[in-house]
Amino acid sequence: MKKRLVRAEVPAELTWNLADIFATKAEWEGELAAIARDLPGMGRFKGKLSTGASALAECLEAAEQLQKRLHRVIAYASLALSGDGTDPANQAAMGRAQSLGAEAQAAMSFIRSEALELPPGTLEGYLAESEALKSFARTVLRMVDEKPHVLGPETERTLAALGEVLQSPYLVYTRSKAADMAFADIKDSEGNTHPMSFAMYEEAYEKSSDFVLRRNAYASFTEGLKKYQNTYGTTWGTEVKKHVVTAKLRGYPSATHMLLHQQEVDPASYHMLHDVILKEIAPHMRRYAKLRKELLGLKEMLYCDIEAPLDPDFSPATTYASAAEVIQKGLAVLGDEYAAIVGDSLNNRWIDLADNVGKSTGAFCYGVPDAHPYILVTWADNMRGALVLAHEIGHAGHGVLAMRYQRLSNVRGSVFFTEAPSIINELLVGNYIAAQSSDPRLHRWLAMQLLMTYHHNFVRHLIEGELQRRTYVLAEKGQPITASVLSRVQGEILEEFWGGEVTIDEGARLTWMRQPHFYMGLYPYSYSAGLTIGTAVAKAIKEEGRPVIDKWLEVLKTGGAKPPVELARMAGVEMGDPAAIRTAVDYVGELVDTVVKSFAKTT
Ligand SMILES: [Zn+2]
Repeated sequence: MKKRLVRAEVPAELTWNLADIFATKAEWEGELAAIARDLPGMGRFKGKLSTGASALAECLEAAEQLQKRLHRVIAYASLALSGDGTDPANQAAMGRAQSLGAEAQAAMSFIRSEALELPPGTLEGYLAESEALKSFARTVLRMVDEKPHVLGPETERTLAALGEVLQSPYLVYTRSKAADMAFADIKDSEGNTHPMSFAMYEEAYEKSSDFVLRRNAYASFTEGLKKYQNTYGTTWGTEVKKHVVTAKLRGYPSATHMLLHQQEVDPASYHMLHDVILKEIAPHMRRYAKLRKELLGLKEMLYCDIEAPLDPDFSPATTYASAAEVIQKGLAVLGDEYAAIVGDSLNNRWIDLADNVGKSTGAFCYGVPDAHPYILVTWADNMRGALVLAHEIGHAGHGVLAMRYQRLSNVRGSVFFTEAPSIINELLVGNYIAAQSSDPRLHRWLAMQLLMTYHHNFVRHLIEGELQRRTYVLAEKGQPITASVLSRVQGEILEEFWGGEVTIDEGARLTWMRQPHFYMGLYPYSYSAGLTIGTAVAKAIKEEGRPVIDKWLEVLKTGGAKPPVELARMAGVEMGDPAAIRTAVDYVGELVDTVVKSFAKTT
């Protein structure tokens, strides 16, 4: 076996170039110290926001400048840590950046509270009279929106002081999962012993073609989870209770209303996504499960089999250079400005490709002001990697255009929209790869890759969303949320969804223990919104071309300067109309058709 490199041994061209943020670590140190020195300066605006619009405008301007500098300092430390989490220097730098972040938050928290304490109508009046404030309209209007839910200054201060305590369910969950949870070793079909962990289960064993290994891993995983079910049931129950109580205190009709208000999403759209997708996508996914059961020769399909590979020996090889070319060509339809961003990302060390000890797993994209987005993947010379890169470049392209055309305060948008640009790129590049080849096996492989994306982001995450939806209803009625309640409701949802095609056993009922998402508000369902928008736009690009692309580029440039439903509308997608959702669901149905037909021919 090839020895895994340590970070220092990795050739520089396989790593991202953090010097694009700070030329040297010393420069980073200098900026860290300078920000700490400049923070108290924000105090000059304290107590002044009631004096007029220009004071507020100046204050927001100064805060944004500091935020930008802070983002850069934190990004530098955070990216270094993702490159090698075992390096004590990286850990120490991250710790320092984080405490500076906390200090900055404390130093700037008065802005929000002071602005929200202004007499009713003041902020609206400021906006009407001040040109300088206009570019902060979005920030100010969001404050206006929040105002009816703000409590007295004394209470807000108390809640803020308890902030860390209120975050404890998430902390307990993640730390316990990372450090305490242990799983028994497992054996494969040849009798070899393998170590077992959360990440190994989800990233490797669950997708293994070795039946014995997959089933043993599932058994070990379930046993390991079971030992913590009451702990995690309590942490989740506490998290839900926190939202229910906070929503009541702040005068929202329910926790769900409060959490959606933060995302600027109306409850009707939220409910429609769950109702339409889960009901209409289920028959397609059951068909896919049935095919899997037949092809794999399974007597019984367990929850651990739903991602077992159907053609494990086929993994089209590629190199980074040819994958980069495919991505460029696949995304060329998005025009010159976009193509330049794609080229920069692929060729100018925006991407960390290396595989080294201590590097983060998975893939992500991290935007850095006055630099560029950074993308982390572990490149393995296969075509799957090209699709993953195309996806992350979707986030990067969005980030670059938003930062180029919007001020920093307007860059970040609602999670409701986040996955739209990434799925579009995945589909564009997937379609391009398909168009270059007449090999039916490759076409089938592509359909299965895209189904993996939809299964993960459209189905799994929305089932999580459904669990949240039902759990919050129970909690609002005063039902304590415990492990047994969560397992029961999880089981009901999975039974309804799989309709007998998959056996819902104890391991399946415990899947609620697997996700940190449940501690991030109503996050899981938001993937389905992004995928709905992205799939509809990708289809329209294919059918109508230029006019749709022009609208889409405008949307990317708008960043977070508009609420997500308006962004979708700009792109031609009405989220209040189930037709858009059905476009995405039908697309998944077509992918399943492709796979089913292809296997029917070969078997
Ligand atoms: Zn993504």
